[in-house]
Amino acid sequence: MLTIDGSFGEGGGQILRSSLALAMVTGRPFRIARIRAGRKKPGLMRQHLTAVQAAAQISQADVRGADIGSTAVEFHPRQVRPGEYAFGTGTAGSTTLVLQTILPALLTASGPTRLTFEGGTHNPFAPPFDFLAKAFIPLVNRMGPKVSVELERPGFYPAGGGKFTVCIEPAKALKGFELTERGQIIRRCGRAVVSHLPAHIAEREIKVLCKGTNWDKSCFSIEEITNSRGPGNIVIIEVEAENVTEVFTGFGEVGRSAEAVATLALQSYQRWLKAAVPVGEYLADQIMLPLAIAGQGRFLTLPLSRHSTTHVDLIRQFLDLELAVERLDPDRCEVRIE
Ligand code: AMP
Repeated sequence: MLTIDGSFGEGGGQILRSSLALAMVTGRPFRIARIRAGRKKPGLMRQHLTAVQAAAQISQADVRGADIGSTAVEFHPRQVRPGEYAFGTGTAGSTTLVLQTILPALLTASGPTRLTFEGGTHNPFAPPFDFLAKAFIPLVNRMGPKVSVELERPGFYPAGGGKFTVCIEPAKALKGFELTERGQIIRRCGRAVVSHLPAHIAEREIKVLCKGTNWDKSCFSIEEITNSRGPGNIVIIEVEAENVTEVFTGFGEVGRSAEAVATLALQSYQRWLKAAVPVGEYLADQIMLPLAIAGQGRFLTLPLSRHSTTHVDLIRQFLDLELAVERLDPDRCEVRIE
């Protein structure tokens, strides 16, 4: 059985979630210890526990140590069973991260799956729903399966209560892709979303985006959400290029000015734009997993984050493949899977 050190590298929840994903796909059992040892509250939090339980339910796994606060888990997957499932992360735990745990195995399952998630859909330190829908899922679909996602209502931290559904038409096998050029930019937009917060927050954010991008006014919009459970604010910059769509976000939080929220989104967009790579920092660590499962692929991205380098190490422990990372210059690197 594989033994994974949950504290290595970045030491976060991703080591656990990707271990679950890879175990479901390969059928290999694993034991993970020192889960999230580097975090303020180590061990399983509600959202991680939901990921373990969801993975266990779908792959009919035997599991030991799946409790809140647990720092060690043993996972023995059996057959992946597609079908209809619903998962909740309590109030505001990230649901998109739970989806990313179970999605890889369902992409090549023996039949279609429909998933419903309830909890946080727009959480800091996790892919917001819009990133999932516009950036991540289209690349997954390029690999053969047909996945669609639909947001019923957003859930912001801390009140949560969001809901979305996912339909998966699997493929026989995943095929890799090459994404080395961004292509022409076809469409771009900046949105400031507020939920149960004053509209001037969004107005101030749009002002920052307008000034920072020099785009036409028609590229910007304000969305006031009324069907979510609690307050929330997010700035979303979306850029559709010929070969890829990227999404950059800034999250509102108590004590962070509207201007600072917009600046966060703007800076990550500008960094990506300047480097002229197709794949941004977050998309790189997330798309690496399905590509590695496909066993073939290549993409150009920014210098790898700690999340990504940790992911590379973890993938190498589960899969027998060549995963090479080459720094091309200070702003760019190439990831190759063979
Ligand atoms: P962890 O910190 O280990 O729980 O992993 C967090 C995951 O969320 C990583 O895969 C990140 O790429 C992803 N993530 C964090 N922030 C964002 C963001 N603003 N947009 C998209 N993905 C994100």
